[in-house]
Amino acid sequence: MDLPKNAYFQGKIVPYSEAKVGVATHALNYGTAVFGGIRAYWNDEKERLFVFRPQDHYQRFLNSCRLMCMEVDKTAESLTELTLELLRKDAYRQDIYIRPLAYKSEEGIGVRLHDLKEDLTIFALPFGKYIKNDTSAHVTISSWRRIDDNVIPARGKISGAYASSALIKTDAARAGFDEALVLTQEGHVAEGSAMNILMVRDGMLVTPPITDNILEGITRRSVMELARNELGLTVVERTIDRSEVYICEELILTGTAAEITVVTKVDYRPIGKGVMGPIGGQLRQLFSDVLRGKNPKYAHWNVAV
Ligand code: PMP
Repeated sequence: MDLPKNAYFQGKIVPYSEAKVGVATHALNYGTAVFGGIRAYWNDEKERLFVFRPQDHYQRFLNSCRLMCMEVDKTAESLTELTLELLRKDAYRQDIYIRPLAYKSEEGIGVRLHDLKEDLTIFALPFGKYIKNDTSAHVTISSWRRIDDNVIPARGKISGAYASSALIKTDAARAGFDEALVLTQEGHVAEGSAMNILMVRDGMLVTPPITDNILEGITRRSVMELARNELGLTVVERTIDRSEVYICEELILTGTAAEITVVTKVDYRPIGKGVMGPIGGQLRQLFSDVLRGKNPKYAHWNVAV
């Protein structure tokens, strides 16, 4: 994987090789950090990079900070500005992934959130497809359960919580699957290892509510809006049973990294006809144009660098 060129680190933009922390750093030891994941897409015709919904990502990032008792004295707007500054310096002419990370930077021993120094870093690096089979993914139901909001706040993007996502992903990958769906403690479908889930049932688009321990995905929100406005679909947020995903007509995973990934098999059971369905196909096409700044109706989601 390519390394970042530069990083915003300790208040200024420095070469990536200078953005280093000590091994006693609190966040490295205890997972006391929060992060974001934002993509920017290169538009060949306009010769520009477009960042997708950075302010919405930063709003969620600041909420994650609050959940972890971090005081970042920045707004979604100023974080977006800072990101644009970094990207102008990086001068990438390809699709990239941007990673803001706020972390407890204190060096020493002691598990807590209070009375600790904290810092903010942002870096970007070239990034392509996250799931190779993104039009024919085969997923399994993980034997791990989704973290509960009363264990680690599920709507926060908290670094420590991703130890759970990593277990989910690696066990699925080693068993030969592209991804895994993870159930809540009550046994309802929550999401994938790092993506939300939406299914088509009886012609409607159905997705778990934000109170079912999901991350409040920006892609999920965008896809729900596109489905309603552009495909005229009814979109329903409700709890989903495990057995529903075996018999639904279509199944998609959404995320900044996964974009819109179409699932065609769950635990060896074909979804619908076992190939990408019409709604998944149309949403992928629509969303790909929107991401690259090629759909003027959604231009407000694209921030040009
Ligand atoms: N769930 C989890 C656990 C995630 O890490 C992500 C990726 N940020 C998502 C869902 C999808 O969220 P988004 O569309 O905002 O990237």
